[in-house]
Amino acid sequence: MALSSTMLTPAFAAKGDKIGVAMPTKSSARWIDDGNNMVAQLKAKGYEPDLQYADDDIPNQLAQIENMVTKGAKVLVIASIDGTTLSDVLAKAHDAGVKVIAYDRLIKGSPNVDYYATFDNFKVGVLQGTSIVDKLGLKDGKGPFNIELFGGSPDDNNAYFFYDGAMSVLQPYIDSKKLVIQSGQTGMKQVSTLRWDPAVAQSRMDNLLSAYYTGKHVDAVLSPYDGLSIGILSSLKGVGYGSGGNAFPVVTGQDCEVQSVKSIIAGEQTSSIYKDTRELAKVVVNMVDALETGSKPEINDSKTYDNGKKVVPSFLLNPVLVDKANWQKVLVDGGYYKASQLQ
Ligand code: BGC
Repeated sequence: MALSSTMLTPAFAAKGDKIGVAMPTKSSARWIDDGNNMVAQLKAKGYEPDLQYADDDIPNQLAQIENMVTKGAKVLVIASIDGTTLSDVLAKAHDAGVKVIAYDRLIKGSPNVDYYATFDNFKVGVLQGTSIVDKLGLKDGKGPFNIELFGGSPDDNNAYFFYDGAMSVLQPYIDSKKLVIQSGQTGMKQVSTLRWDPAVAQSRMDNLLSAYYTGKHVDAVLSPYDGLSIGILSSLKGVGYGSGGNAFPVVTGQDCEVQSVKSIIAGEQTSSIYKDTRELAKVVVNMVDALETGSKPEINDSKTYDNGKKVVPSFLLNPVLVDKANWQKVLVDGGYYKASQLQ
């Protein structure tokens, strides 16, 4: 019996369709992995990915997305640079019938965001804060210790979730004076790092060390991303930390980028957060597939991510804390890295 064309249409219309994938930057390995995973998995399902990186330049990303729509993309997958700047281009996309998935970072202020896939961003911060509490022995009553706080980019919604998650763990110890912020700098307004730029973090750390730590030791630094941790650690090394009995502070991170995992193995950075970008790509490609074939994408959160215009239906993956004790098991045995990459 011949299948009717209406039965065939949804399944076959998808194949060969263009899917725009807008990524923020190649300056961080995680986004390169994200892009590669997306392309491989979209191709495996018969789609034609159009992957673009925007060098962390907002007008560049806007132009790339506009171009994707012009070229006939059916779905846009967007990891935004500034999550608040895309409303106009998404309105155009919506008028053209294009569906939009926010990738890892929430797109704000637009009603034209259909789905969001990310990791549990609040939990990322909780894990970072917990790493500091555990390593310093705060639960055993140790302290007081000196801590400084770094936040991510103020135009990235995730940065607030990371910061709030970490502070949910750290604030009680700050209140009880077991953690002391010598600079007094707290809150995203004071501690954020525009565009997640390692050089910005390094120079802020230089300033903190020279202004508040002559004759004092900084014992912990909350850093939300491996790139910033590298900048922070170079600053610390510059004034003698890590040598001559002057121990590095506890320094957190995120993304398990190769250089930072090596730093963890070498006993410099304390911890990072593993986010399996293969899994994120899988979730997003399944969402694309569902949208293309007229079924409902799978979500597991419908309340957390209010973008100012709507609560965006989301799928949250689980982040995992990685430190010296478990990197081998999580990253190498788990197949994310080959042991040789980390030597
Ligand atoms: C991502 C993090 C990443 C940061 C800097 C955030 O939006 O969720 O994984 O460390 O951007 O690239």
